[in-house]
Amino acid sequence: MRKLQKIKKVKTILFEVSEIANYLWQRGWAERNAGNISVNINHLIPKDTKIKLKKFNSFKLSVSYPDLAGMFLFVTGTGKRMRDIAKNPLKNALIIKINETGDAYWIISQKKNCKNFLPTSELPTHLSIHQQIVQNGSKNKVVIHTHTNELVALTQTDEYCNQEKLNKLFFGMHPETIIFVPKGVGFVKYEMPGSETIAEKTIEILKKHDVALWEKHGVFAIGESVMDTFDIIDILAKSARIFFMCKSAGFEPQGLNNNQLAELKKAFNIA
Ligand SMILES: [Zn+2]
Repeated sequence: MRKLQKIKKVKTILFEVSEIANYLWQRGWAERNAGNISVNINHLIPKDTKIKLKKFNSFKLSVSYPDLAGMFLFVTGTGKRMRDIAKNPLKNALIIKINETGDAYWIISQKKNCKNFLPTSELPTHLSIHQQIVQNGSKNKVVIHTHTNELVALTQTDEYCNQEKLNKLFFGMHPETIIFVPKGVGFVKYEMPGSETIAEKTIEILKKHDVALWEKHGVFAIGESVMDTFDIIDILAKSARIFFMCKSAGFEPQGLNNNQLAELKKAFNIA
């Protein structure tokens, strides 16, 4: 087998993940081992690639993901720090291959019996999202989970645990938000992290939005590339920062009015 991580396009993904992991750490959105990233890299692996799967450890999944059967995914490792992923993605993340029935996976970036670490504890949410993306025929390949301070802070009051109010705030603070994040965020009420329930609620939200904001926790965002996905979170965080700056300065931000938002929607063909 040609080492998958040596394929040029896979190398590019690893480079991008390392750059974004660094940004997440620098922004203060990835304390300790917080956050995780996964990328469906199946389209980058040549179809004729032969892998002796017996050489690798396999692991059972508690739920089956038939639409991901046979696919290759890059996933960050459990307990791994973003700042370490930034320095060396493959020492802190894994390439997995899902089996033909979608209910188990092999870790193929590490040899059998070497000191394996497992994928992120949020793997059920990541796989559920990737499965939904495949089912919808969407071009999205990337899922990023991070603890964006500015967005988590907003969910610390009942006033903003409200999807409509959140999106009005995000769109109002800066004209670029509605242009680059036209679907806004979907709000997910507090649930136990890593649970099947939060995975189910998140995939429901991601049918209509590119970002699910988890109450008092963080965001799950999807996008076509690692860079695009980061940008979506960054733009929302900027809107939230402008809101908090106005509040800290002691005045209520006005926000763009309905006519100004309607004008932007028309100019940028936003439904
Ligand atoms: Zn988290």
